[in-house]
Amino acid sequence: MPDISRIKALIFDLDGVLWRGQNPLPGVADIFRFLRQQSLPFVLATNNSTALPEKIQERMREMSVAVSLSEIVTSAQTTAIYLQQRFPAKTIIYSLGEIGLRAAILNAGFQLTDTANDAKAVVVGMDRALTWKKLTEAALAIQAGAVFISTNADTSFPLECGLAPGAGANLAALQATTGVAPINIGKPESYMFLQALKQLMVRAEEILVLGDRLETDILGAQRCNMATGLVLTGVTNREMLDHSQCHPDLVFDDLPHVLRALSGSES
Ligand SMILES: [Mg+2]
Repeated sequence: MPDISRIKALIFDLDGVLWRGQNPLPGVADIFRFLRQQSLPFVLATNNSTALPEKIQERMREMSVAVSLSEIVTSAQTTAIYLQQRFPAKTIIYSLGEIGLRAAILNAGFQLTDTANDAKAVVVGMDRALTWKKLTEAALAIQAGAVFISTNADTSFPLECGLAPGAGANLAALQATTGVAPINIGKPESYMFLQALKQLMVRAEEILVLGDRLETDILGAQRCNMATGLVLTGVTNREMLDHSQCHPDLVFDDLPHVLRALSGSES
């Protein structure tokens, strides 16, 4: 069990931790006010590739929390950095995803195509305008040899009323069709954690990662030697936790309990 008083920085997951669907979760403004008062740095790190970082910044502002763009890491941005390391500028890419992913790919100097022809990579995120035609183009490009890359493999996406299909559901369809497994960039892989680590300028063991998903947030943080806190306001409940092989260091009912632990009024 980590000594929470030795935590020097935090990494927050967003969906299921700070909000659920359109609804903010309780205690968001209070915990960030505390972090600013204590000069504790943080990064918001989301597997969700659909939103632009500016949109996340705006959403935080609506909850009375000011964050800079450098405090936001999305799987779309991290995927774009991966693409830059692997492909030359102007490489043609087929992307199944929303504006957050498409903008990240274009800003990184690549070209997007609407058909399978000439695509050197297929980059897949969550896409709420998904069609059979889009899946087919992606499958054809993969069969023609394009590298199959995913922003994240979350099978579901939490809404107020239940779970909707996430990026992982798209991956499952493409993998079933082509027999090819994607290279995943998002959590639990280490790319996003290492990017956050670089920005936080502390040692990995001094970081507390707060997330709602055991197989991404918690598992990925454990692989990077970071302390882990599961928050039960998202996709994981106590029963699921009891049956899991993955054990977070700390478990919190919600953000107010995280704040109490951080401020020393509860351990
Ligand atoms: Mg989440």
